[in-house]
Amino acid sequence: MQQLSNSKIPSITIEDPTPLPGNGKFHVKLIEGFYQNLRRIISWPMLALFFGLTWLRIDNLPVVLFDFSAHRIFLFGIELSWYDLPILAGIMISGASLLFFMAVGWGRVWCGFACPQSIWTWLFIRIEDMVEGRAAKRAKTDESNLTGLVLLRRAIKHSLWLMLSFATAITFSGYFVPIDQLLANIIALEASLFSLSWIIVMALLTYANAGLVREKVCLHMCPYSRFQGVMFDNKTRTVTYDKQRGEPRSHRRNAEDNTGDCIDCGICVQVCPTGIDIRNGLQAACIDCAACIDACDSVMVKLGKAKGLIEFYSEEQLSPSQNTDVQPQKPSSILSPRLLGYLAVFSITLIGVFYSLQNRTELLIEIAKERGSLYQISDDSVCNNFRIELEAFSDNLSQLKIAVNNHNGSTPLTLIGPKDIYLTEQNNTFLYRVCSPLKGQPTRSKIDFTFSNSTFSSSKQSTFIAPTQ
Ligand code: SF4
Ligand code: SF4
Repeated sequence: MQQLSNSKIPSITIEDPTPLPGNGKFHVKLIEGFYQNLRRIISWPMLALFFGLTWLRIDNLPVVLFDFSAHRIFLFGIELSWYDLPILAGIMISGASLLFFMAVGWGRVWCGFACPQSIWTWLFIRIEDMVEGRAAKRAKTDESNLTGLVLLRRAIKHSLWLMLSFATAITFSGYFVPIDQLLANIIALEASLFSLSWIIVMALLTYANAGLVREKVCLHMCPYSRFQGVMFDNKTRTVTYDKQRGEPRSHRRNAEDNTGDCIDCGICVQVCPTGIDIRNGLQAACIDCAACIDACDSVMVKLGKAKGLIEFYSEEQLSPSQNTDVQPQKPSSILSPRLLGYLAVFSITLIGVFYSLQNRTELLIEIAKERGSLYQISDDSVCNNFRIELEAFSDNLSQLKIAVNNHNGSTPLTLIGPKDIYLTEQNNTFLYRVCSPLKGQPTRSKIDFTFSNSTFSSSKQSTFIAPTQ
């Protein structure tokens, strides 16, 4: 048992994990209820987004694509370059602060309701349930001899798991390589060895994580479960068994026995995807999926008792000093300085991301003076040579006009070179000569190169040099 505390964070207790039954293998019983419906409402749109986003395009641009080979990132119709990587860092910081905000407020609800590991595990369990029968039947089959029908069902289950794993791996790869191109290559047997190896590794990882290893990922591999304890405080609502109301538990339902409301039916344990008994207290293995809440609520309804023997409670709500009745007191405030702090960080970084997206670089302009002489004099003019490199991060910028202006507007400038620029990956470097009357020209003056089309305009400053007069 770990006791986590310091002077600022009130102590909370995380119990050691409940030992798993028998040889550690258990079958998860599926349950219906409010939180299971909530999980569907969250997970089905997330699955639809995951499988659908790779196929969607806005203005003929992929909705989400991290195209490393072309050094481009496409996000919801916006094309980013590597110069915009701080925007991605901002998105990651705001995502992490949202995760911390949820952890401080409601424990591991991300794990239980939205983490891909959980979503895929529930999908695999549903396939298992559909093909091999309910949890009790599966447990019985495990103990009996394997018949032909059992083996056939098992083969169908593993085949479906593998199909889903490969669909997941190909879709995931579609976030890095255009998926239509990838699929066409696979079908034509022209996919590269690297692509095929990557897809096979990803598929096997999905199959192993969601089908074979499942809760062990949450228990032993996920770093989030390791540091969750320090995120919680006594206002954090996590899935908790109300011991005062439930204990002493008893199979017998006799009011005179003075027993608690828990009838020790064990359904809350049978539905737990990590195989723990929440009645033993807050445990590192609990992913706050709330399956045990739905299970226990269904039992309480059958017994004609109030729901909520297991619920999202904070330690403060159930502390004996505040709660002298059997029922938990009215919900205490969830607000704490840490919760507000994470909300503030999330809001600020999100505003920063939107601001940066609005002001991101669409055209990268590099202007350098031609090496050699600083200026050339011909007749009564002085000229400077410039080498201009352009990189566009929008299809809209393939055609541009160039103009040059003197910063102080005092002396006229003549631009010698193509006024219309047709930008391609191969054609992105241009040489220009800028000339000005020699008379009255200052030794150094600021000039602006402007690149524009009907919807875009951007300027870059450079220096024009003339002899001392
Ligand atoms: S104890 Fe309850 S909330 Fe925690 S993982 Fe098990 S079923 Fe989910
Ligand atoms: S489901 Fe409820 S009543 Fe049944 S064992 Fe769990 S806590 Fe007790």
